[in-house]
Amino acid sequence: MDKTSLSMEGECDWIKYKELTSILQKASYAYYGLDRPLMTDKEYDDLYDELSTLEKETNCVLAGSPTIKVQGYLLNGFTKVKHTKPMLSANKTKDTKEIEKFVTNNRFYGSYKLDGLTVVVRYKNGEFAQGITRGTGIEGEDVTEQCRFIKNLPMTIPYKSNLELRGECVISWDEFKRINRNLDTPYSHPRNLASGTLRNLDLNIIKDRNLSFVVFECVTDMKEDSKSETLIDVHNMGFEIVPITKLNSTVDQVSNALQPEFYQYPTDGIIFELDSRKLSESLGSTSHHECCRMALKWEDEPYETKLKDIEWNTSKTGLINPVAVFEPVDLDGTITTRATLHNVSYIENLQLGIGDTIQVYRANMVIPKVHSNLTRSNAWKLPDKCPCCGGDVEIHNENGSKTLHCMNPDCKAKLLGKLVHFVSKNAINIDGMSEATLQLLIERGWVKSFKDLYNLKENQIYLWKYHTVGFGEKSVDKLLENIEKSRNTTLDRFIYGLCIPLIGRTASKEIAKFFKYDYKKFRTDGIVTHYSQIDGFGDNMNQSLHDYLRENHMKIFTLADEFIFETKSESSNNADLSNKTFVITGSLNHYKNRDELINIIEQLGGKVSGSVSSRTNYLINNDVTSTSGKNKKAKDLGIPIISENQFVQMITS
Ligand SMILES: [Zn+2]
Repeated sequence: MDKTSLSMEGECDWIKYKELTSILQKASYAYYGLDRPLMTDKEYDDLYDELSTLEKETNCVLAGSPTIKVQGYLLNGFTKVKHTKPMLSANKTKDTKEIEKFVTNNRFYGSYKLDGLTVVVRYKNGEFAQGITRGTGIEGEDVTEQCRFIKNLPMTIPYKSNLELRGECVISWDEFKRINRNLDTPYSHPRNLASGTLRNLDLNIIKDRNLSFVVFECVTDMKEDSKSETLIDVHNMGFEIVPITKLNSTVDQVSNALQPEFYQYPTDGIIFELDSRKLSESLGSTSHHECCRMALKWEDEPYETKLKDIEWNTSKTGLINPVAVFEPVDLDGTITTRATLHNVSYIENLQLGIGDTIQVYRANMVIPKVHSNLTRSNAWKLPDKCPCCGGDVEIHNENGSKTLHCMNPDCKAKLLGKLVHFVSKNAINIDGMSEATLQLLIERGWVKSFKDLYNLKENQIYLWKYHTVGFGEKSVDKLLENIEKSRNTTLDRFIYGLCIPLIGRTASKEIAKFFKYDYKKFRTDGIVTHYSQIDGFGDNMNQSLHDYLRENHMKIFTLADEFIFETKSESSNNADLSNKTFVITGSLNHYKNRDELINIIEQLGGKVSGSVSSRTNYLINNDVTSTSGKNKKAKDLGIPIISENQFVQMITS
């Protein structure tokens, strides 16, 4: 395009045009490539509409414009696969008259426009063969292994020829709420959650979240002209398909039948699809969309209100989340006063200030969002202290969006997060110790560290038992008992419980194995060990461990005093006790009871006898100086007397 041929007015349009294109490209990358939206869907749609109007007016479209280029980006770490035919967008409108013009007298049906991650699945010989994300539309990412964890996706089907289907990977609203409840930084929309889940390289995460695959198109020509009939055939093979309306419905009937709140999955509109495959093929496509379908997007009604406050809340990880507090508005029947502001960049973009007139809406009829700021005073202030602990804060740049973090390692909000992790099932495992209880113990000032859990004072326990609403004497006793029980632990649980950055459960197990589950070895060598020599450990993990151990070694040592480290049977299996006879006497504190110890000795090939004789190899007794008959006899016969801990070392070293 020749810039000089434009009039003054045209010049302004040109600048505006370039600006819009660049904003939309950035937003699109943040949205598709990083799963971290920079703006609301509505803002994006509005800018998109503005851009396409401008393009129509000026009759000029740049290569790379989001209106002609299919949006979507590839992440690294996945194999790229070419699509058999380009995956294009649907042409969109908000006007039902446009839809009526589009369908004219042709056979058509309506279906929900699913709001998730589009995925192609391929079958060979009746077996699931491959899953590919939409990616750029020309090539996508191979997510075959991830797809195997989608519960409603059949792995074998009765149809034996090659089959290719397009569908949407979605998470239902119910599942979205369930998963978000357990997340520190909740996802803003099931689409981001579905996308983040399917493209996760950790398959366990996919397993835990109920992803669904809903078919909306059969790519393979099944010698059936009616696309709706074909979809029903696909349904009969065992697939979940998107709900479709009857062929003789009117546009209005379809719009009324397919309301978003009727459907368990998130949707962002209705697809009107011409039913004849032959007709569809003859219509062809532009570089942006296929001409056989059109999407009706729902208008999200924005409401005006006044911003009263921006609240900042410190989460368990130290991330400080902003929330908009505004004068009550009725959003489609629900009185709403708060909406998330996501992060610092989001507020910067909206140029918020207390007293500003803002527009809020319910995104996809569910999540309240701030859509725009009409007055843009930009008078908002970034907190310079953590709202929870008053500690220093820092801005981090995460994938292009600025986030605020509390830097105080002893911040109460973070302490709660760490404690919740510490007592969790896979860590130290204090049964029945809930987040609410930990919160109470922190608020009372009784627990300021992990170790404090094991040193609750008499008067604290008294107050807890008799003067804390919601606690019974018995439940406190039970909890105290469970705290005591948790003192018997293993090195991997202990390390995992510490919340060392980058060190998850598997890594903790590897470290424990490396030290043969021996805490003493870990204590002496932990800080000088090059962890990179362990399989799966990179430089970052090694660095993280060294940083953590250097800063916290005294804390770890005194904390470890509270525990008795059990050895794992998997490591002790290496020890060979055949031809060894043991006698056990006195009380035990490492093993639960005498039977447990006898079992271990016998599993390792040893024998246990009731009395000391010349054939005895070891007497196990924690009180080495005891003057009991067995001790005396052992001493007389020169038989070594060992404590439980010495026994544990014997079978693990
Ligand atoms: Zn703080």
